[in-house]
Amino acid sequence: MTLIKNGRVIDPSTGIDDQIDLRIQDEKIVALGKNLQGDDIIDASGLIVAPGFIDMHVHLREPGQTDSETIETGLKAAAAGGFTAVACMPNTVPPNDSIETTQFILHKAKGHSVEVVPIAAITRMQKGEHLSDIDRLCRHGVVAFSDDGKPVVDSALMRKGMETALRYDALIIDHCEDPYLFRGGAMNESIVSVELGLPGIPSAAEEIMVERNILLAKLTGARVHLAHLSTAGSMTLMRWAKANGIRATCEVTPHHFTLTDEAVLKYGTNAKMNPPLRSQQDVDVILAAIKDGTVDVIASDHAPHSESKKSVDFKQAAFGIVGLETSVSLGLDRLVKTGIIGFNRLIELYSLNPARLLKVDRGIYVGAAANLTLFDPARQITIEASRFHSKSRNTPFNGWTLQGVPVRAICAEVPPGR
Ligand SMILES: [Zn+2]
Ligand SMILES: [Zn+2]
Repeated sequence: MTLIKNGRVIDPSTGIDDQIDLRIQDEKIVALGKNLQGDDIIDASGLIVAPGFIDMHVHLREPGQTDSETIETGLKAAAAGGFTAVACMPNTVPPNDSIETTQFILHKAKGHSVEVVPIAAITRMQKGEHLSDIDRLCRHGVVAFSDDGKPVVDSALMRKGMETALRYDALIIDHCEDPYLFRGGAMNESIVSVELGLPGIPSAAEEIMVERNILLAKLTGARVHLAHLSTAGSMTLMRWAKANGIRATCEVTPHHFTLTDEAVLKYGTNAKMNPPLRSQQDVDVILAAIKDGTVDVIASDHAPHSESKKSVDFKQAAFGIVGLETSVSLGLDRLVKTGIIGFNRLIELYSLNPARLLKVDRGIYVGAAANLTLFDPARQITIEASRFHSKSRNTPFNGWTLQGVPVRAICAEVPPGR
């Protein structure tokens, strides 16, 4: 019997915000209240006890690219980062477009505390030509589909994918990018790209696809989630979608709300991501959209790459950074410490909203599965990439001092059959 004592328990979904104890037995929350008894005591003095955090956009790289990450190292990084579940993208080798690969991932994840929600490819081999067997995958419990890494360019095929997913109320997640406008791009198209002589990626390359996807969501009625949005224009389009009752949701990453394209000058290839870091005006609009509810989810887009893929010429370097072990501290430092949002909104962004989208239960009430994230909003941490649990070190945040630390992720065993 575990007892979490003296923490400040917050769950906006049930309205709790109180200094109370929480007792766990057989993987479930069995009591909430003052002065509870228990034998295995976790002292949560000074900590916030929240519903378990979920990172719904993670690249675990296995099968196939285990020099960058494995399911084991990725899940250790997730636990260290305060997460109780992750959803993993299917752009592995081979891409996850089948029940067999989904089962392989779930099998490899067994024995780890952090729950894995495998996302399957929308199109076979992520080639954008034919749909995966979405019907069959849904019947085997897959709840989300994406070709992340690239968009589904063919709008008619995407429409069909959405219509199929809708029959099961599954989620379609798109990486919004017009490949023709994007072609050859390495960073945001701006004064900085001109200065560095690098090929630019205009904001329109993202926004055209955001708009296309919103219109397809309107046409089909499907649940559509737009990954890692990075521009002010994308936020305007999301506001329009929500005002018109379209079932579109979106996520932003900590790097897109923390850094601008000027980071490329300082951090080189560790500031190369897709979508690229944008301008200060984009960052300001994203922060406002996090505050006003336009943004549904914060996800890291954890994209581990081995040293050899990053220590090359900027144009040749791989896109992406590791994010699992810096995400929560960046959220606490950049959003809560600055007063942009409070704990309730942070918990919606990191736990309740991704849970709702992935149909995973998160919440603090008697009878709930004991999935909890404990964090210290006052403690400072200096990021040391060399101590990451992830196999990769590609981060621009090495050496940064941030206020707010995920202290512990408590995970209930995943019920069989999920
Ligand atoms: Zn992507
Ligand atoms: Zn991604």
